[in-house]
Amino acid sequence: MTYEAVIGLEVHAQLLTESKIFCGCSTRFGAAPNQHTCPVCLGLPGVLPVLNKKVVDFALRAALATHCTITPTSRWARKNYFYPDLPKGYQISMYELPIAEHGYVEVAVQDQAKKVRLTRIHMEEDAGKSIHDAEAGASLVDLNRTGVPLLEIVSEPDIRSATEAGSYLRSLRALLQYIEVCDGNMEEGSLRCDANVSIRPRGSTEFGTRTETKNLNSFRAVEKAIEHEIQRQTEVVEAGGRVVQETRLWDADREVTRPMRSKEFAHDYRYFPDPDLLPLVVDQAWVEHVRTDLPELPAARRARFMHDYDLPAYDAEVLTARKDVADYFEASLRACPATPKVVSNWVMDSVLRFVKEEKLDAALKIETWPCPPERLGALIGLIQDGTISTTIAKTVYEEMRRTGHSPEEIIESKGLRQVSDTDTLQAAIAEVLAANPDKVEAYRGGKEKLLGFFVGQVMRATQGKANPQMVNTLLRQKLSQ
Ligand code: ADP
Ligand code: MG
Ligand code: ZN
Repeated sequence: MTYEAVIGLEVHAQLLTESKIFCGCSTRFGAAPNQHTCPVCLGLPGVLPVLNKKVVDFALRAALATHCTITPTSRWARKNYFYPDLPKGYQISMYELPIAEHGYVEVAVQDQAKKVRLTRIHMEEDAGKSIHDAEAGASLVDLNRTGVPLLEIVSEPDIRSATEAGSYLRSLRALLQYIEVCDGNMEEGSLRCDANVSIRPRGSTEFGTRTETKNLNSFRAVEKAIEHEIQRQTEVVEAGGRVVQETRLWDADREVTRPMRSKEFAHDYRYFPDPDLLPLVVDQAWVEHVRTDLPELPAARRARFMHDYDLPAYDAEVLTARKDVADYFEASLRACPATPKVVSNWVMDSVLRFVKEEKLDAALKIETWPCPPERLGALIGLIQDGTISTTIAKTVYEEMRRTGHSPEEIIESKGLRQVSDTDTLQAAIAEVLAANPDKVEAYRGGKEKLLGFFVGQVMRATQGKANPQMVNTLLRQKLSQ
């Protein structure tokens, strides 16, 4: 019997508003504990929440970007549970009337576009943070995060493998970054993911019992945890057992999931409409206003790159996967006369390798990259006008990265200007030919493949600075004499 995995993800995205969802406290990350708090987010008696309109704008952006239907009148609900980092004893969330439903995210699965449907998107407030390992015999509570706005984005169980889950999460993160509602930093917890996993005999149309795994704070953790969970459930079923519905925790050190608590059910939370907040009414005018404000989304940008710049689908896909990379590409292109494909090669090769090496987070602004796009554009321009060769340009690029100097400065100070002077090149060629009489003879006897060898030698003799096209032409002339 072979089994198929069924996966649904619940994603919590922390919104990039400056203040919290129901009070004016700052949302900034990294402050000293309990500095960003007030009577509202501390849950003191006698205070009332006031909704931050920006949070609704952001939720609507996300809803439109994921093709959701927007609920004209949605409602806030109290989700009741007891925990030390939840001072009110309930979390303000949305329950039976979320702000948006029935959307989808397009995900590339083995070169094909697959739609992963969204069940719902709703807004809620974050809880505080319990710190269990800082002090022996005590747990500490930091309430800075209490009341920070979140979007919960729930997918339908449409995902079928760990890799697909990773692709879905990457696409969703890119979308949220494009519309600038979330920085997508999983390590800092601004994007968090719970994975619901079940298995069923391949071909079956019914769903099996699921587990929900929490504490997934990297793409690797999401993929590893799902793989592990599929494996574990398969072993349970094959040994004649039954999967128990429960909440599990990912142990990143040991790379296993372990039981955390038996699954809680909705009725455990005693959801009820929050009497302190009015129903949320979003009219068509508001939706249209948000829609006109929406930037170009990845799918549209990909299509435009293929159409306007005549780029292959692969290039368009890679360049638009991150908004900052796509912006970088377009800014570089504006700054030089080369064709889009030439600029694309540079960005995909040198720039993306750098992004990977330095683990540049997508949250980092393009202006802070050590080699700004105008400089890359200028560098490519210098190849085009024959000042330097492509090989030398790679060296110059590394220097630009390292020193932050302009390409012109580096070329001058290192004497890297391309040698296109015929006399100098003729002299270098004469030396190379004189040093290799046997090869010259072989070439003239028909071994024309040796041209590459001669070009290489001349390039070496000129420390890579010779103009390769000219070397080629001059060598051919000389050898046919
Ligand atoms: P809960 O609050 O109980 O976790 P939610 O409705 O918030 O319920 O989330 C349910 C998540 O579990 C969704 O992402 C859904 O797609 C997924 N899911 C539901 N049933 C299954 C199943 N049998 N196998 C895997 N995932 C499932
Ligand atoms: Mg859940
Ligand atoms: Zn506050």
